[in-house]
Amino acid sequence: MAPSAALRQTGGRARCRVLIEGVVQGVGFRPFVYRLAETHRLGGSVRNGQHGVLIDAEGDRDAIDRFLDQLKSAAPSSARLRRITVTWGTPHHDSEPFRIDTSAGEGEPALFPAPDLTVCVACLAEMRDSGNRRYAYPFLNCTQCGPRYTIIRALPYDRERTSMASFKTCPACREEYEDPRDRRFHAEPTACPACGPRLALLGSVGQTLDVADPLGSAVAALRAGQIVAVKGLGGYHLTCDATAPGVVSELRRRKARDAKPLAVMVGSLDAARRLCVVSEAEAELLQSAARPIVLLERRSVRAGEAVAYEVAPRLRHLGLMLPYTPLQHLLLDGIGRPLVMTSGNRSDEPIAYQDDDALARLDGVADLFLAHDRPIEVRCDDSVARVVDNAPVVLRRARGYVPLAISLTREAVEPILACGGELKNAFALVRGREVFLSEHLGDLGDERAYRAWTGAIAHLEGLLELAPRVVAHDLHPGYRSTAYAAMLDGVRRVPVQHHHAHIASCLADNGVDDRVIGVAWDGTGYGTDGHVWGGEFLLADLEGFERVGSFQEVAMPGGEAAVREPWRMAAVFLQTVYGEAMGELDLAFMGRLDRSAWRLLSRATERGLNAPPISSAGRLFDAVASLLGFRDRVDFEAQAAMELEALAEPEADRVYAVNLEEMDGRTIVRTPDIVRGVVEDILSGVGADRIGSRFHATLADVIVNTCERLRERSALDRVALSGGVFQNVRLSRLAVEGLGRAGFQVYTHHQVPPNDGGLALGQAAIAARSREDRSRV
Ligand SMILES: [Zn+2]
Ligand SMILES: [Zn+2]
Repeated sequence: MAPSAALRQTGGRARCRVLIEGVVQGVGFRPFVYRLAETHRLGGSVRNGQHGVLIDAEGDRDAIDRFLDQLKSAAPSSARLRRITVTWGTPHHDSEPFRIDTSAGEGEPALFPAPDLTVCVACLAEMRDSGNRRYAYPFLNCTQCGPRYTIIRALPYDRERTSMASFKTCPACREEYEDPRDRRFHAEPTACPACGPRLALLGSVGQTLDVADPLGSAVAALRAGQIVAVKGLGGYHLTCDATAPGVVSELRRRKARDAKPLAVMVGSLDAARRLCVVSEAEAELLQSAARPIVLLERRSVRAGEAVAYEVAPRLRHLGLMLPYTPLQHLLLDGIGRPLVMTSGNRSDEPIAYQDDDALARLDGVADLFLAHDRPIEVRCDDSVARVVDNAPVVLRRARGYVPLAISLTREAVEPILACGGELKNAFALVRGREVFLSEHLGDLGDERAYRAWTGAIAHLEGLLELAPRVVAHDLHPGYRSTAYAAMLDGVRRVPVQHHHAHIASCLADNGVDDRVIGVAWDGTGYGTDGHVWGGEFLLADLEGFERVGSFQEVAMPGGEAAVREPWRMAAVFLQTVYGEAMGELDLAFMGRLDRSAWRLLSRATERGLNAPPISSAGRLFDAVASLLGFRDRVDFEAQAAMELEALAEPEADRVYAVNLEEMDGRTIVRTPDIVRGVVEDILSGVGADRIGSRFHATLADVIVNTCERLRERSALDRVALSGGVFQNVRLSRLAVEGLGRAGFQVYTHHQVPPNDGGLALGQAAIAARSREDRSRV
């Protein structure tokens, strides 16, 4: 955007036209330009155009240069500038003042819808000022803050195309809305107590309760140990006092959620620090505009200060977040202690977001509903993130991040739909270079989730006015996302292998398209040979991959049932290592093992009945957790792995010896060797926490050693780590350190999850490179 040297020499008066592309709608960009132009005494105008915001500016040459610099450096924090193009012209020499053109002109930019924005400092100050007309009003917002993505029905972003359409602005709000010097100039969802949404308190069966102060009554109910469903930005939260063990257990019982950790909202950073250890990077993430749930290490439990153990049983980490809506601030101010804030659903269903649906589905779960009359257009869960090596990693990408686009290194010729996987699904739409990854939509095996998924695809296609011509999908024939892709007419289908998609996702996440050694470790992914993969080493780029290493295959006894019952994997590993002699092992595990059930299961396994061969890293974690005696059955996938991570000692003193063997051009990791090492440690009385740390260190070692072999073979020295197993911070950290010492450059995830939630980004990146001739159907 730097003006050319030739023009720079002219000095004096100048005129230019500026096109700004990116997230520039709904973030207060035009008023910002207006004020900046006034500061520099420029004439001209700003308006929305077909491709972004368009500025005509005329004035003193040096002033224009400063104006252009500050367009970038002083832009509203929520704006995302993708490209600025400056074209110089001849000055008109008229003296018209700068103005904002609000007319549609040559078309509105329907380009980059903004994510929901955390309530800003100025609005919070008004909310707490008893002299302000918005004092204690839970729905105030401005051009810098408030709901966006979750209230937009269609673009362009104007009030009549949001769920605020039915609220007619009062004269005072209208005046602010029309004043370019006001911070609510064109704040589409602006509202006040006279004209905006209102709170209502409903009883457990949805009857409106006639109370003068719904908020005060909800706070009193929370204090008295009741469970309150609170309508938020993207859905209902189930809320209760996080310090009261009884009510937290009751919430778990009613929600049919046995062990998954519950998120907690605290009123301030200081309150977060009383519960958890918070580094600078973690504080920044907690307070970032997206306001995700941040996984933080708990402080030791001190009576009176800690949240109830029942909030996150057995785990070393707590998921904390800070309030991001005015209503949440008012609730936290009122109760003055941490609140459980978990998705309003039962078990694994999607979060409830429509009022009637919430009342029906949360009947019997919530004692009260704190609702309001501003409809939610898009269901959107809270995001989850954590800090690894001082950098944030998003683990569940939803509210606050969606629908911000992620840029590919090259443009896609045709619009693409990438369907994602089956679990933790998010899909993606590609327009040109930009990938719009959807909010986290959950497990498509659930009928409601599947319907929500198809609805979300239609909504985002409508919002972006995209009709995909290419559809990328997983290879797994049993995934509903695969079946959906197969049903679409008139599109080119691009099937993408699961672990290739993971590695491509990591590349796209880092904005690179190198050929790398990809380490893709997860629970389950369908391989090109029809087997279940999950401990994979690939040589991969966006064009293709070669499977050059993997874990040794073992049987998964009883198929998918083994995911819920890690004891099955423990038993099958013991049998692989010790054969018949496993019966004589003096292990606590053998004491717990139902031997007759195992005999039947292992006979079926030997005959190959419902015992698919797998090379899964996730199942190895399960087996070791079960052998260590703290988890024979799980309530959710990766529970055993999470607990194993939580239990391990900080540093390992040694690793287990693991053979790497070359077979058919592939490096095979002899994983039974790891199990042998674990068993020998158990037999010689080594503690589970020490074994846990040796196990993690061993796996990191396997990664480094295998990558070194592959470097010799391929001359590649860049490694991408992806797949759900890399949510494990201990393993990620050890692998990154080890690979770094061995001279590798390492890519890890930051913007999208390493788990299947990031899969669609990888599919999209691969599909954008795929050529026409490959699979026109
Ligand atoms: Zn604000
Ligand atoms: Zn008003």
